[in-house]
Amino acid sequence: SGKWAKAMAILKEFEDKCSTPISKLRQVADAMTVEMHAGLASEGGSKLKMLISYVDNLPTGDEHGLFYALDLGGTNFRVLRVLLGGKEGRVLKQEFTEVSIPPNLMVSTSNELFDFIAAELAKFVATEGEDFHLSPGRQRELGFTFSFPVKQTSINSGNIITWSKGFSIADAVGQDVVSELTKAMERKGVDMRVAALVNDTIGTLAGGKYDNNDVVAAVILGTGTNAAYVERAHAIPKWHGLLPKSGEMVINMEWGNFRSSHLPMTEYDQALDNESLNPGDHIFEKIISGMYLGDIVRRVLLRMAEEAAFFGDTVPPKLRIPLVLRTPDMSAMHHDTSPDLRVVGTKMKDILGITNTSLKTRKVVVELCNIVASRGARLSAAGILGILKKLGKDTIKEGEKQKTVIAMDGGLYEHYTEFSKCLEGTLNELLGEEVAKNIDIIHANDGSGVGAALLAASHSQYP
Ligand code: ADP
Ligand code: MG
Repeated sequence: SGKWAKAMAILKEFEDKCSTPISKLRQVADAMTVEMHAGLASEGGSKLKMLISYVDNLPTGDEHGLFYALDLGGTNFRVLRVLLGGKEGRVLKQEFTEVSIPPNLMVSTSNELFDFIAAELAKFVATEGEDFHLSPGRQRELGFTFSFPVKQTSINSGNIITWSKGFSIADAVGQDVVSELTKAMERKGVDMRVAALVNDTIGTLAGGKYDNNDVVAAVILGTGTNAAYVERAHAIPKWHGLLPKSGEMVINMEWGNFRSSHLPMTEYDQALDNESLNPGDHIFEKIISGMYLGDIVRRVLLRMAEEAAFFGDTVPPKLRIPLVLRTPDMSAMHHDTSPDLRVVGTKMKDILGITNTSLKTRKVVVELCNIVASRGARLSAAGILGILKKLGKDTIKEGEKQKTVIAMDGGLYEHYTEFSKCLEGTLNELLGEEVAKNIDIIHANDGSGVGAALLAASHSQYP
């Protein structure tokens, strides 16, 4: 019928605008490399902040003793303790607990939030068994993963630039997040020193490097997206401090904020951005990360319903609710292998209130998921190529035997198999067979928790 043809025309136009041929991906990768240079050259020189992390040494494997880690960056926070046993023992023991943050505290005051965190930390410390034996006379030390934008001032201090992800605590902005936590720990009687303040990409990089010495970069694909990598200190013109002994500095790219005229943006992406909490910002993130992919699918389905009666004569009202279709549900539909696409049918009914979808309709939904996920995955691969280019690892060097490894983490990468398969396939295609042999992607599972504890160990007050 004419309606079906109209719906297919909407889909086709969207698909065309999303297309990411290899030539375009190369342009995106080149733009990423250019912006990396610009962000390193001067403060504010690029949309890429290229934040200096003050981490100039990644774990060596020699770290030993008891260390804590705290991960705050979403609706849950995690507290972890690990007993490190050096090169022989590695991670001897670890325990963690996960606590959800009461929504009212996400928009309260700094004292209220950090008192809650410190109180939970106190409870967790109280459950520390003898087998974690803290060396006599030593204070407990903590690696603090804080995944909001921070202007770092040393390895264990930094001021909050702004909140995101549903947090909004005005009196904490501009404050040193480590001193806020430390004061709360004092109020709650927790005797612990924050030895390292890091962001989740840096934690993942540290955890990844501990597992595999050839790791040079980390990429997070979760609710949001970000990347970090090891840069040569003398390649950072905006760094005016002493050159670190290692000659290296870990850079937190904040790559979610990357944008380029080469990114394939559709009218749906424009609308999503306009209606977001941070219009104009984090454009790369809005095209590739878990917070948004499902909503892009919803927006296209809504257009097909409005202009081509794709779901019948009335537009299903739930289709108008922003963010109602979440990426995990999109991925469940995309991965549906049943002959009648049963999962798609159930999701359409349960989430969007659309009953009795035909197999033909369900196939279109899967195709739409594939278009949105593939674009995100292919652009993520282009971003990684940008980093490899910056490191000079995108070509074969004569006699080079060392592998180059990228540590990946985050719920999107971990659970959305079609996405991660596509990302890896695209990266191999971009690199070519010869170079691809030298580049590995590993999943740094919960690297961020252990990674922060490792960085606390390498920045311990005890030699
Ligand atoms: P965060 O990024 O919030 O720190 P995670 O790394 O655990 O936390 O990522 C969670 C995000 O991963 C979710 O917001 C969602 O977008 C995405 N995600 C989780 N599970 C799936 C899934 N099964 N399929 C696709 N995406 C998923
Ligand atoms: Mg996380």
